[in-house]
Amino acid sequence: MDIFKPMDLQSEDAGDKEKEIGNVEKVRCLIIGSGPAGYTAAIYAARANLNPVLYTGLEMGGQLTTTTEVENYPGYPDGVTGPVMMEEFKRQAERFGADIRFGIATSVDFSGKKHKVTIDDNILIEADTVIIATGATAKYLGLEAEAKYAGMGVSACATCDGFFYKGKDVAVVGGGDTAAEEATYLAGLCNKVYLIVRRNVLRASKVMQDRVMNTKNIEILWEHQAVDLFGENGVEGASLVRKKGTPEEENVRIRIDGFFLAIGHTPNSEVFRDYLETDQVGYIKTVPGTSKTNIPGVFAAGDIQDPHYRQAVTAAGSGCMAAIDAERYLADMG
Ligand SMILES: Cc1cc2nc3c(=O)[nH]c(=O)nc-3n(C[C@H](O)[C@H](O)[C@H](O)COP(=O)(O)OP(=O)(O)OC[C@H]3O[C@@H](n4cnc5c(N)ncnc54)[C@H](O)[C@@H]3O)c2cc1C
Repeated sequence: MDIFKPMDLQSEDAGDKEKEIGNVEKVRCLIIGSGPAGYTAAIYAARANLNPVLYTGLEMGGQLTTTTEVENYPGYPDGVTGPVMMEEFKRQAERFGADIRFGIATSVDFSGKKHKVTIDDNILIEADTVIIATGATAKYLGLEAEAKYAGMGVSACATCDGFFYKGKDVAVVGGGDTAAEEATYLAGLCNKVYLIVRRNVLRASKVMQDRVMNTKNIEILWEHQAVDLFGENGVEGASLVRKKGTPEEENVRIRIDGFFLAIGHTPNSEVFRDYLETDQVGYIKTVPGTSKTNIPGVFAAGDIQDPHYRQAVTAAGSGCMAAIDAERYLADMG
């Protein structure tokens, strides 16, 4: 099934860039990103003899390097820290010969049969296949306290961290479907969930709104904004402002152990958007059930193409799919 429209692509600028840059390295399989999706793609591509080259981006090891305990990745019955787990993914990919390099994809030209990717504005790679695994970054409110309590009560993933707050009181920030989903999920684990909503309505779909309203241990704090967090060795509470900027403005403090952000993610697809179809938010569209994008030979894996699950295990699974799709594409090319 072809879900994509043909695109009118221009390649002249990229041609000029190639002249400026000079040397071009040719690779069969280029992987962009070093999270669970990228490293898994590298393991499969290396074992299929595709001699993959992987560029890590700024965050070597991806999002999991910013967390402590990972308890839901199969194969680690006693849990593992994110950085250790990602180092093991890397070692496994290197064991089969994946060429892992530090560098950022700064521009691409997907207009021809060979896919051109510029690294750090000065290295030009010409790849038969490209696997994009650049992830999606959670949005935060921008409070200093969010950084201060990162991993100590602040989280942007209820599925990942909710379990650590079993029986406790937590708050979720947001008014859309994700916030409603996260609040409902946490309500099944926690004693009490405050849903902090900036406006006096939820943006979530009717069905999600009903679910939130009908869950006894969720309390919606309408027209509230979080402005700070407090606590000695972790989050113990949040300072809120109700009806900010109006004559009725008042300060409110709530006691919580966990503060969950659910105000959206930014998919790291900026570099690819001139060529690849994305949804409104920027998630790369793939043909359902595959990792294929609208450009033959370019595949997407992990959070960059997944607005729904965004888990390490689903990212790794789709990295495997992308490497198999790339291998079959190359086999068909002959
Ligand atoms: C704090 C935290 C805790 C979490 N805990 C869990 C958990 O317990 N269990 C779980 O299953 N999931 C957890 N998650 C979610 C999990 O981390 C993600 O679902 C997973 O990392 C997605 O993997 P990915 O490979 O798609 O992308 P990422 O891990 O986001 O990796 C993206 C990679 O792309 C690279 N990159 C980006 N742009 C470029 C570019 N232009 N050029 C080159 N490289 C680029 C980055 O450097 C990075 O290496 C957590 C997330 C966070 C933030």
